[in-house]
Amino acid sequence: MIVCNSKSSFRKWRASQIGPVGFVPTMGFLHEGHAELLKRSIAANSVTVLSIFVNPTQFGPNEDLDRYPRDFERDQKLAEELGVDCIFYPTTDDMYDAQTTISLSAGEMANRLCGASRPGHFDGVLQVVTKLFNIVQPSTAYFGQKDAQQLALIDSLVSAFDFPLTIERVATIRESDGLAKSSRNVYLTTDERSQASELYKALQLGKTAFEEGDSREQTIALVKQHISSKTTGLIDYVDLLTYPNLEPLDTGSQFVLACAVYFSKARLIDNLLIERVKNNATYDVE
Ligand code: AMP
Repeated sequence: MIVCNSKSSFRKWRASQIGPVGFVPTMGFLHEGHAELLKRSIAANSVTVLSIFVNPTQFGPNEDLDRYPRDFERDQKLAEELGVDCIFYPTTDDMYDAQTTISLSAGEMANRLCGASRPGHFDGVLQVVTKLFNIVQPSTAYFGQKDAQQLALIDSLVSAFDFPLTIERVATIRESDGLAKSSRNVYLTTDERSQASELYKALQLGKTAFEEGDSREQTIALVKQHISSKTTGLIDYVDLLTYPNLEPLDTGSQFVLACAVYFSKARLIDNLLIERVKNNATYDVE
């Protein structure tokens, strides 16, 4: 496995690769969710590139950029064990070396869910993903359904700008009690960690209620009620939208039921996809 700390060293390595290149972009501090994306890529491609970059342009001024968890040595060991071929681990100066007035706007779809409480976040995500796609030039890039809005926006980016690659969606990997694996889970206190599985339980309750005929509003209220009665977390949002277009409608065939909750030192997000078939019965696609 090779580690490239700059765009130029990466490009040299990339030029010598033949066959399909799989790509897994991350911010590091790897866990089993990342490992699943990497395994999928390694199984399907000639080589797999893992990028580790805590991208400053997707963090707001009062967010956790400085204290985002990092452990490159541990990540490197895990990547090597899994069979990753190359880690692209650039510095911020190397990634953003040019002064430019050009930017990408995530538009309307970024005004909901996480985008509503993190202004500019998805503009930053699309900016770095565009740069990474152009640097890495993958055949296939792997993203987690855990970040459902991000995935919908990246699908839309690829189609809007004709990136010559395929996006593969990977279902959310969870702890045994249902908590979605996340690098930020290390910031939960012991009490918060035991409460955090209630997010998944609340989403499951909401999914069943929606399947059984509850309206969008009723479902959202039920999920909120469960989270506020079972945790000390502060709800940022609970929403039920069509997926992937993210519209606030009761009608449609596929939906995302999503939440974000602030605990003392971590903001957790989770979601479930719900598919509605013709006779109005629904089933979970995760
Ligand atoms: P991050 O390092 O948090 O930016 O995540 C990098 C990639 O891993 C993104 O595509 C995430 O959606 C994905 N990911 C993070 N957590 C999980 C998880 N629990 N299950 C599946 N994919 C995940």
